[in-house]
Amino acid sequence: MKIGKVLIANRGEIALRIHRACQEMGIRTVAVHSTADAAAMHVRLADESVCIGPPPARESYLNVAAILSAAAITGADAIHPGYGFLSENANFAEMVEAHGFVFIGPRPEHIRMMGDKIAAKDAMRRLGVPLVPGSPGALASLEEARQVAAEVKYPVLIKAAAGGGGRGMKVARDESELEEAWRVARTEAKAAFGDDAVYLEKYLDRPRHIELQVLADTHGHVVHFGERDCSLQRRHQKLVEEAGSPVLDAAQRNALGAQVTRALQQLGYRNAGTLEFLWQDGQFAFIEMNTRLQVEHPVTEMVCGIDLVKEQLRVAAGERLGYGQSEIRFQGHAIECRITAENPDTFLPSPGRVTTYHAPGGLGVRVDSALYSGYAVPPHYDSLIAKLVVHGATRAEAIARLRRSLAEMVVDGIETTLPLHLAIMEDPEFQAGDYTIHWLEQFVARRN
Ligand code: ADP
Repeated sequence: MKIGKVLIANRGEIALRIHRACQEMGIRTVAVHSTADAAAMHVRLADESVCIGPPPARESYLNVAAILSAAAITGADAIHPGYGFLSENANFAEMVEAHGFVFIGPRPEHIRMMGDKIAAKDAMRRLGVPLVPGSPGALASLEEARQVAAEVKYPVLIKAAAGGGGRGMKVARDESELEEAWRVARTEAKAAFGDDAVYLEKYLDRPRHIELQVLADTHGHVVHFGERDCSLQRRHQKLVEEAGSPVLDAAQRNALGAQVTRALQQLGYRNAGTLEFLWQDGQFAFIEMNTRLQVEHPVTEMVCGIDLVKEQLRVAAGERLGYGQSEIRFQGHAIECRITAENPDTFLPSPGRVTTYHAPGGLGVRVDSALYSGYAVPPHYDSLIAKLVVHGATRAEAIARLRRSLAEMVVDGIETTLPLHLAIMEDPEFQAGDYTIHWLEQFVARRN
């Protein structure tokens, strides 16, 4: 089928990102926005726009009826959910399709399966993908948690089946901490997701977070675009991502890629997705799969020379991939800094008016942002204001390029994490690629 018009059910930089891919493909775009975003860049750039509600996301960007109505009245053919908001809501994907629109993403059944991390691990176990050791399913009781913890050995992690954004996750260093971790994880999970199902995993003490980008068409072809190393995290949230990982070689990448693409082919997966792994002592262990475009997808685009959103649109329209794994090449190194409107030491949000905005430029520099001078960052949404992504022939060149780009970038009027990113890029351990998922928390603590 032909997609002539896409409704972008999102805001901020990712709404612009999707708009840009559509424009280059000759596809018209419809922006949706809350009243707080009436002057936002994604609304200005889109061919058409529809106001879908007041500032709280629940009443606008999560308002399924308003979004479907906007698609109907503007005559859109397809809906791209971006990331966050409704992007991993299987009911939404189902409703989009039931109303005759193309959902630019995976099948609802796979969104549902991967949204339940216990079901996701179960599926991956059956498909032969290695997992982090832990409970075989949801924990029925604290007693069961005690038994499994004794088997896999402390420290352990209690995780919410419905988890996301690092919520509903609690570490127990030894048995004395288990009851508290169990109780708090369940309470948090219930409050955040309305579901208190939890499971247990061995808590790896010095892993890296390495994830694999995949893409599948509707004709049974699956490819991967290599890995991203997203180990630089604060409170389980990513701050800096790179492609490829400083610790993997081509043979390890290919081995993991072959295993994962085979598994997804058996599953009948479609569109883009990311499998997240922890990597320690040369071993990969699956933790979860994200059934959407990810924030950090540009680093993959930079090293592969592809446009993942265009690929999503093509396979959603039923086109064949048209290339095989051997045609995907990796060139150079890319790093992304997530710049947020937050105090760089306390991480307190800093919404408000941007008096001056100046984006860095030059060879190998890409800025994905919805900022402009005079824009007021609203307090209602995620604090991400810009993704600064660079590409270099080598990792060292990418770091040098980031240092000068971070120094060039000006965002006046609000506090941002630009100084923190600059400090990371200047750190010898980061420069050596010598870090785990715990490195950034320690780095931040040392700075304060
Ligand atoms: P969420 O969906 O909430 O982001 P994830 O399962 O993706 O949760 O985990 C987020 C982060 O938490 C991981 O990137 C990693 O840093 C950490 N983490 C998750 N599971 C483990 C584990 N078993 N051991 C150590 N760290 C973990």
